[in-house]
Amino acid sequence: MSRMQRFIVFAIATAVALFTGCGGGGSPVSPVRCSDGSVAPGNDASRCPVIPPPETVSVSLSASTNFVGVTYPMARVTITASGQSTTGKTVTVAVTVDGSPVNGSVMLPEGNHNICATATSSSGVKSNEACQVLAITWPEIVGRFVAATPTSEYVPSGLWAVVEETDSVRVNPDGTFNLHTLSALKDTAKVVVRGSNEVFPTLARVEKKYFASFVQIGSVRNWTIPTGTYAGQTVALSMEKAYKETPPQPTGFFPRWKLNQLGGTDSTTYAYLVGSYTSYPVKVAAYKMRSNSLFSTEDEAKLWARLSEMNQTMGFNLYVQSDTTSVNATGGIRVTFGNGGAGGMVDNETKGDYISGMVNISQANDGTFLILTSQYGGATKHEGLHASGPIHHTCQWSSLMEQNCLRNLPNDLQPEDVAYWHLMRLVRGLERKYSTRFSLAQMHQGERAFLLGLPEDKVSVFGPEGW
Ligand SMILES: [Zn+2]
Repeated sequence: MSRMQRFIVFAIATAVALFTGCGGGGSPVSPVRCSDGSVAPGNDASRCPVIPPPETVSVSLSASTNFVGVTYPMARVTITASGQSTTGKTVTVAVTVDGSPVNGSVMLPEGNHNICATATSSSGVKSNEACQVLAITWPEIVGRFVAATPTSEYVPSGLWAVVEETDSVRVNPDGTFNLHTLSALKDTAKVVVRGSNEVFPTLARVEKKYFASFVQIGSVRNWTIPTGTYAGQTVALSMEKAYKETPPQPTGFFPRWKLNQLGGTDSTTYAYLVGSYTSYPVKVAAYKMRSNSLFSTEDEAKLWARLSEMNQTMGFNLYVQSDTTSVNATGGIRVTFGNGGAGGMVDNETKGDYISGMVNISQANDGTFLILTSQYGGATKHEGLHASGPIHHTCQWSSLMEQNCLRNLPNDLQPEDVAYWHLMRLVRGLERKYSTRFSLAQMHQGERAFLLGLPEDKVSVFGPEGW
């Protein structure tokens, strides 16, 4: 066929195809389109033109803070930023801190800072701005000091808090202090509150978990008894005396125990017991059913007389006569009568918050309760004091709580007994109020290290939750 003939055949074929397309005999053919919307050459998608994606640029940002070699409140901040182009172009990065351009490392004060970075490729494409807030807080130990007094609590002026003998800060009038120190980056820190003529110094080994809210209870050094038989008398307190062991017993007037004496294995670390009843006066009941000896109404009257005398001497409503039903229901001191030896103790002494205690009134050889009499009543009072708190024996002063001191012991509470007893009660009260267990142990160690020149003992620190 000639070229013209081929055209005619093609034209006819096309006309037939168009005719049949409109005649409803077959289906229309949709054109195949490329991703840019154009019709694919030859209706073949594989022949679509390849269109490269546009270049994008991204940026990443990180910042690290270092407090070494700088002074409060400045920190050295190192900023690392890097950019990437999807087309492999060279990228430059610009960094700003709080709106000002910086390069690499910068000194910044405490507080929040806005760090941003933008990357630009050599072709001029920019990334989105990447920003982050960097919060700079200097390592610190936030503490508070409060001292017990016979009638209240106070903060003497002129105290200093010192960490690891390197960083120090003046204690605020309300007792708070904020010690900026790199020691706060460690697991434990030695925190000393320098004492004064008025209050004991304290020496604490503080674990990291208390750095944000360390509360140290202290005490005045001279305790002027405000009420009771010895009102107006001043006792010069010494924790070294209060905790001095009374051989053969391992404790002093105030108890502390080596951990191996409490069931552990550590024979060098001390755990201090600080405790008191959760409310006063403590109810006391005489228990006939639990006693293995009969006792008379007169015997019971003598018991109340001796306890009443203790209230007067203490200048404090410590005991109140009650009954077994009430004590069984809500706690108090259970007094039994009979052989088995005189004794007194609080229940669960290591808990710190006491609900109950017990006293046994022993019989003399003739069957009478001689220790209830006025003449020998000191023995009943001695046991009563054991049941009133964590109070053990001492030979460090003339005391109702003497034992094995090889001298005549007094028949009644002495001024030191009264002063130390109230100290224990009031310190435990402040521990509860401020939710802390840093108190007498740290006063003792402060006295040893700074007033007596003795080595520091190892002390087991436990939290407000107790043992
Ligand atoms: Zn005793």
